[in-house]
Amino acid sequence: MKKQFTDADKMIKALKDDPSFPYIYKGNKEAIVTGKINGIQWMGKIDCLNLDAKNSYFVDLKTVDDFHKKHWDDGQHKFVNFAQQRGYILQMAIYKELIKQTFGINARPFIIAVSKQSTPDKAIYSIPDEDMQEQLNELQECQEHIRDVIKGTVKPIPCGHCDYCRMHKTLGSIQSIDDIEIF
Ligand SMILES: [Zn+2]
Repeated sequence: MKKQFTDADKMIKALKDDPSFPYIYKGNKEAIVTGKINGIQWMGKIDCLNLDAKNSYFVDLKTVDDFHKKHWDDGQHKFVNFAQQRGYILQMAIYKELIKQTFGINARPFIIAVSKQSTPDKAIYSIPDEDMQEQLNELQECQEHIRDVIKGTVKPIPCGHCDYCRMHKTLGSIQSIDDIEIF
């Protein structure tokens, strides 16, 4: 929580001289929304929710190393941008759905991102509806499994590459040197 707060503080400092920022970043701050997606309970905390505007929208603030850095995605076996890699499109899709359930309003999502470079980069992004729908479809396929893992009734499926998986890895079975995956 503490770190998030400092990050948000730094970002607002970086954005405070931007003429558009105060105009866009107004509304209900840290708005809590709740709801159910296919029977599973979800909660979201939205940085800024503006339901007063003629066109309702919400904004989430994100810090990024560098907007243009590429990130390897294991699932898709290709490089993706920071928003795709960190699941921000899914997050915005869930928020949009929870806002609809809580207030009966279709709000438009925006991400305002600031880079951590010594001279920070700034941008505001919209998110295509079809990308959010695709993410929600994927979520509906896997959320029951995630819920069961959280409950502890089902074991997680190891990805084999992350810190956690490496920490719990043993030599176990022998694999052919031809089968080493390269990314
Ligand atoms: Zn892993």
